[in-house]
This record gives sequence, structure tokens and C-alpha cells, in this order.
Amino acid sequence: MSAPAVRIREVGPRDGFQNEPEILPTAAKVELIDLLARTGVRRLEVTSFVRADVIPQLADAAEVLQRIDVPPGVALTVLIPNERGLDAALEHRDRFQEVNCFLSASEAHNAANVNRTVEESLTGLERVLGRARGAGLRCEAIISVAFGCPYEGRVPRERVWAIARRLIAAGAQEVGFGDTTGMANPAQVRGFFDEARTVLGDGVELTAHFHNTRGQGLANVVAALEANCRSFESSFGELGGCPVPAGATGNIATEDLVSMLHEMGLTTGIDLPAGIAAARRAQELLGRRLGSHTLVAGPVDWRDA
Ligand code: ZN
Repeated sequence: MSAPAVRIREVGPRDGFQNEPEILPTAAKVELIDLLARTGVRRLEVTSFVRADVIPQLADAAEVLQRIDVPPGVALTVLIPNERGLDAALEHRDRFQEVNCFLSASEAHNAANVNRTVEESLTGLERVLGRARGAGLRCEAIISVAFGCPYEGRVPRERVWAIARRLIAAGAQEVGFGDTTGMANPAQVRGFFDEARTVLGDGVELTAHFHNTRGQGLANVVAALEANCRSFESSFGELGGCPVPAGATGNIATEDLVSMLHEMGLTTGIDLPAGIAAARRAQELLGRRLGSHTLVAGPVDWRDA
């Protein structure tokens, strides 16, 4: 099987479940992850080792990792907030292949989200990345509010590149740029990824993580594609959001992203009906409508089969 033209990491079980008001039972999470792992997706972020008193939605991280049944060829990602989280995750080292760590590009968002300065976060993540690489894990680092901050407004690109360089030097093989509260627009995204590639070079994978807070998520994907970004993160059913500020809504929906890319002639390796089925099951388990459009409309049907 040849590599898909566009790489997608499904982040719903982490970014989604973490930010939904309900706490899904572990069995429901395991069922949904097992469904997602059979959609053809090759990267799946399954949970995070965070303090249970901070994010009770993910308190069952270890149990989820132990109970899921994932076919070979699917790389599992675990989100790591700090060294203590890494210690907890490494007790289950045989159950996942990648880690993902994060900080914010702005001081105010970083303080609101993790109660640290950007420098404190960077120093901690440099240790996390070094130790994770030492344990043979592939490492992604996500820079949140990279396109704009709800507290500080514009975020200078030079600041984003400076953070990215530190993360790469510390061992990050992939850097994700989060439009965490949906402030980015396509013109900005195009320029951002053009410059990112020039500044950060070809040795690192650059990933776009868009939220659909203002309905511009897929437009931003097209802009990133035009700047040769080929790696995206999305969430089935459009689950998710951001803990701060209140009201930040979900990631772009995986089904909407896959439908659009396939209609554009770009392969993803994902079976769209299987992805829709997973989102539909999440909708059933949560007992309310989710934000994905393709979940409602179904795949495009050209009647030319
Ligand atoms: Zn997100």
C-alpha cells in the first residue's frame, strides 16, 4: 500500500474527550478507539497522562491503553504534559509509539492553560523530549495559539519559530501548529506555512491543527495544502475544544476533512464510511448531535458508479 498523499492524525479520543463536558465510561472510549483504529487512519492520539484532578475526563489513560485493540500499522500517540506524565506513560511503553507535548505561543494562554511561563514550559518539554527520544518514542510538539491568542491578540511569527527551533533541537521530529481558538484565516495560514518551511527546513514534519470555532477550519486546510503542508490533525464528529477560554469549540471534523480531500483527489488512507460510522457511534454514546457536517449529509454521491 502506498503512502497516502495527506497524513491525518485522529485526535478525537484525546483532544475530543478531554474537552467534552461528559466523562465517557472507559468501555465506551475503548469501543470508539477500536472503531477508529479500523478506519485506515495511521496516527491515532488516544489519551493523555494528566493529573486526574485537573482533567478527570482522561483519568483512565492507563486502562484505556491496556484495553484497546489496535491493528498493526496504526501509530498510537499519547499526550504528555510534563515529566511526571512521561513517567506514568512509560510504565506502558509497549502500548504506544509516539508522544505529543504542547505549550502555547503566548504567555497569557500558557499561563491560563498550564500555569507556567513559556520558558518554564519549554525547559520542561526539552527534558520530556530528550527522555522520550531516549525511550525510542517518536516525538511531536504542538505550539498552541500559534496563529493568534484570545488574550494577547497577534502572535509574532518570530516567537513561534523561536519556540519551534528549541523544540526541534530538543528532539521533536514533528511540530504542530495549533489554531486553538479558531482565529486563523486562509491568507494568514498560507503565508505562515510558506515561511515555516523556509525557516524550519525540510528535516521536520510540519503539521496543522485547526479548530472550526469560526467555521474556517477547512478553508485553512486548503490554504495549508497550497503551502505544501501535508499533515493534519482532526477529530471525529468535530469533538473537542480548548479548556481556556470557555466557548472554544471543536477541532475540524475528520469526516469533513477526509471527504473534502478525497473529492479533491488527495488520498488519506481512511475509509470515509468507516469514519462516519465511528462518529455516529460517538454521537449515540454521547446522546447528542455532534458538529460534523458529513456525519449528517453522508459522503458525496456522484451516481456514476
Ligand atoms: Zn485541538
